[in-house]
Amino acid sequence: SDLYGIEAWGHDLVTVTDTGDVALRDPLDPSIPPVSLPAIIKDLNERGITSPIQLRVQSFLDMGIHRLNKAFADAIRETGYQGVYRGVFPIKVNQQAEVVSRLVEVGRPYHYGLEAGSKPELIVALAQEMAKESLIICNGVKDDEFIRLAILSRKLGFNTVIVLESLKEFEIVHRVARELDARPLLGVRIKLTQTVTGKWEASSGDRSTFGLGTEQVVRLVDRLEETGFLDCLVLQHSHLGSQVPNIIDIRRTVAESARFYTELKALGVPLKYLDLGGGLGVDYTGEKRSTDNSMNYTVEEYCTNILESVRYAMDEAGLEHPTLVTESGRFVVALSSMLIFNVLDATLYDTPVRPETVAGDHHFVKDLLAVEGYVGPARLQESLNDALYYRDEMRALFRRGQVDIRQMARAEQGFLYIRSLINTQARTGDHSDEVDEALEGVVDYYHGNFSLFQSLPDVWAIDQVHPVIPLQRLNEVPNRRVVFTDITCDSDGKISHFVLRDGIANSLPVHDLTEEDEYYIGVFFVGAYQETLGDLHNLFGDANVVTISLNRNGGFEIEHETEGDTIAQVLSYVEYDPQDCLVAFRRTVERAVKAGQVNAAQRRILMDAYKDSLAGYTYFE
Ligand code: PLP
Repeated sequence: SDLYGIEAWGHDLVTVTDTGDVALRDPLDPSIPPVSLPAIIKDLNERGITSPIQLRVQSFLDMGIHRLNKAFADAIRETGYQGVYRGVFPIKVNQQAEVVSRLVEVGRPYHYGLEAGSKPELIVALAQEMAKESLIICNGVKDDEFIRLAILSRKLGFNTVIVLESLKEFEIVHRVARELDARPLLGVRIKLTQTVTGKWEASSGDRSTFGLGTEQVVRLVDRLEETGFLDCLVLQHSHLGSQVPNIIDIRRTVAESARFYTELKALGVPLKYLDLGGGLGVDYTGEKRSTDNSMNYTVEEYCTNILESVRYAMDEAGLEHPTLVTESGRFVVALSSMLIFNVLDATLYDTPVRPETVAGDHHFVKDLLAVEGYVGPARLQESLNDALYYRDEMRALFRRGQVDIRQMARAEQGFLYIRSLINTQARTGDHSDEVDEALEGVVDYYHGNFSLFQSLPDVWAIDQVHPVIPLQRLNEVPNRRVVFTDITCDSDGKISHFVLRDGIANSLPVHDLTEEDEYYIGVFFVGAYQETLGDLHNLFGDANVVTISLNRNGGFEIEHETEGDTIAQVLSYVEYDPQDCLVAFRRTVERAVKAGQVNAAQRRILMDAYKDSLAGYTYFE
């Protein structure tokens, strides 16, 4: 049975083999058989690429571009829309050179462009070989230099549009354009009054931070007219925040955008492009509902709804259908990669070992162990209540100095023993939701070799839920429920929301760890925003990043590999010179040798360990 709900959230990319391994499927070529993920990890390990690994699959990335552009092309045909679609990828969603250049390459037949929200991102965009008709949309705060580059880049054949975020920004554009004696392509970012639900609600409505309100838009149009720049304003932009869960919100806001567009046209603005920003969601949980981590529509519905709304408004106003632009980032790249980590250790809240009571033990210890006599399907809740009661009474006695530490240890162990009996019953028999809830409250911890702050920052920052599953032994019934802690010494470094077939849970069913084999966990759909948003908490650096493609004989090829940060690299990010650290450490060791605290052999061990660590991975090796 599909305990983890893979069929619902797996987007046809993830499946399970007969031997219980999670396997990856190629979404673009069905003739490629599923490739076992544990086999991929084993192979990567043999090549020296150890976990944590951020694994990107090339066809997953390509799929995003194809699906988006195909959905728009189909919807254009079906709705009789007379304009074209020219999507742009917002670089901030995944700035990795390899990703951006792949998106530009795969997107070329679609005239897919780029969105730059900062000067560095514009620099990235201008280093790409873009298709002739594709756009570079410049959002964000812009200084003289940014604007100069954007304006002059048009002479190199780039269709660079400067989206005005404020009235003041136009004054800079005005001055720079006059200095250069060049005409810019301009856009205006409109603050819509409609709001959307979801995590990014605050990015919508008239209290949103970016863009011009209605009165400012009219002032801008007047100013453009006055300065002779009105003919440069070709694009209208709006953005309502990311991951919009409800299609009704999209319809409402698109209709408002279209109203602005028709009104601006009526004011004589020669608009040609209608840019609707980002917001197209990803169904992280497979719920297909309008929740924070899911959405109640498909990409096909998204496209049809947009085109219908825009077409309707334009037909009513007797206007040509605009070239439609969206800046969908999350949809294009989120599915493309996953984080893989091994479990280093466990903190378990049960034990198979029954403690022996000794003469003089408080009767609560004996009462606690006596629960064993009636743990059964019919009395599970009672057993749990009793065990908790006796343990807590013992804890109170211990705090008051009435029982000693050895006796307390027997009571704690007794409780863990009873809990393991309850766990076994709870797994096999019917029981109440209360028991489930009570057991969820005392789940075990598995300690993972990853940093939440580096690799899954949105899990920490905005409670993003990703599918998280064990990558092996899925043909065995899991016998534990855990929460994952990371390798930082921060108690916030935890994954405690999981996608299961029955909904979101606060713990994940997993298997016991074994001495022989590593236990790997996969966190799926981390391709959007996570890679560069992460930080160096506790000086854990970038994980190893590997891009693979799946091949016909059930194997894979490495397309690209970026080794994770070494400790020396991470130290240099925070202004240490690793060489200086080494020299200082050697000096300290020498002093200890002179003082007779360290002998020659120990000196060598110390120096080797320090040097090897500097050159090594920041994670557990
Ligand atoms: N465009 C702009 C202006 C944005 O601020 C963002 C991100 O929020 C996006 C596009 C990308 O949005 P999404 O990832 O939801 O497609």
